[in-house]
Amino acid sequence: MSAALRLAELGRDVILVEADLLGWGASARNAGYLTPALGSDPRIVRRFYGDRARGLYRFANNAVDFTERLIADRRIDCGYRATGNISAAPSPANFERMRASVKSARRSEVADALQLGIPTTFPGGIHLRAGGVLHPGQLALGFREIVRASAARVFEQSPVHRVADEGDSVVISLDEGRIRARQAILTTNAFTNGLDIAPRRLCTPVWITAVETERVTAAQLDAAGWTSRTPITTAHFVMQSFRTTDRDTIVYSTRSVQAARRARADRMPDRRVVDDLARGFRGYFPGLADVAPARAWGGWTGLTPSNMAVVGQATPRVHYSMACHGHGLPQAPYLGALLADHVAGAEMHEDLATVWRRSRRFAPGVVNPVTLRLGWLADRARDRLGSSGASGELA
Ligand SMILES: Cc1cc2nc3c(=O)[nH]c(=O)nc-3n(C[C@H](O)[C@H](O)[C@H](O)COP(=O)(O)OP(=O)(O)OC[C@H]3O[C@@H](n4cnc5c(N)ncnc54)[C@H](O)[C@@H]3O)c2cc1C
Repeated sequence: MSAALRLAELGRDVILVEADLLGWGASARNAGYLTPALGSDPRIVRRFYGDRARGLYRFANNAVDFTERLIADRRIDCGYRATGNISAAPSPANFERMRASVKSARRSEVADALQLGIPTTFPGGIHLRAGGVLHPGQLALGFREIVRASAARVFEQSPVHRVADEGDSVVISLDEGRIRARQAILTTNAFTNGLDIAPRRLCTPVWITAVETERVTAAQLDAAGWTSRTPITTAHFVMQSFRTTDRDTIVYSTRSVQAARRARADRMPDRRVVDDLARGFRGYFPGLADVAPARAWGGWTGLTPSNMAVVGQATPRVHYSMACHGHGLPQAPYLGALLADHVAGAEMHEDLATVWRRSRRFAPGVVNPVTLRLGWLADRARDRLGSSGASGELA
């Protein structure tokens, strides 16, 4: 949507084709954290990006600024609260490492749980002041209205079966016809493996589950130690996240994710995963152990070995931008707009250059059911270490 809108506003003739409803993918189903966190261990970032690693932090901050401006300038009513987000340490050792490696600064503060106003089952964490939380469904639907009102021609319920670069143009095949275009941008995220033109092994589809609880009162949240109400993500191998909503509920997500060869549009949340997420919630919020899950949903996102988005060129006329992992809420629209500028002929923005994938080949991915299970086990072992000094009983 962001790429199409930018191109339309640049005066290009744009057709946006969506298999379902605009925003139907991860964009409308995520947990709503707008954060400049990279979500990848700094060692992994350095290994994959070398000299460009520093630029990634700038990119992630600019992505949050971009999306905040998008919401404000376009007046999208999505309940955005600029709370910042806390990256909480799951164990005392983890918190010590955090303290040693991160200095409190204008845009972030490293502090213990009481200072951060979060339950003391977390030893402490970093409060990243940029960003906050919002309602992703409202953002996606609000954005959809803006795109539909723009000069871009939108075709929903129109799955693309094939994209072919024929040298002088690109041919996009649909159920009921074909589109011939000068250039194409793929933003198909976890569903990209279904298109032959995409580089092989571009990203692995991963299913993420989210749970929303029944209503909870302010007194319950205070008694549980969550006095600040600041949204929390954990510094695990696969993070866990906890936030309050405007509906006086709590949403928690991620923790236990599943990889697949192909993303399936009809997938539903798995009961065992929902139970595991609830266990994780009760572990960190023992004071809210009686607050029951009320509903669950899930969505697909693409994962890469570096845990970073991939943007590049599949063929001379076909670009791609996808796999923003758990950080696509700010990054996907920002990259969409930057890529649109580039495709329209502008000089490549330094943030786009930082994320840009130079090679068209991808090594076999390391994200698969086995590595994700090992990651889950490592995280639970870390929880047990953390719980020895905390009051909560972790899974
Ligand atoms: C449960 C969950 C929680 C998350 N939480 C957060 C969070 O709190 N913060 C955050 O920053 N990120 C979060 N993410 C990740 C974030 O939502 C994504 O990175 C981001 O939305 C990706 O946006 P996108 O536009 O690249 O892809 P998507 O939103 O997935 O859009 C891809 C679209 O392409 C369409 N499509 C695919 N194939 C075809 C085809 N062949 N023809 C036509 N259309 C096609 C799909 O229907 C879909 O609408 C979460 C993801 C999930 C699933």
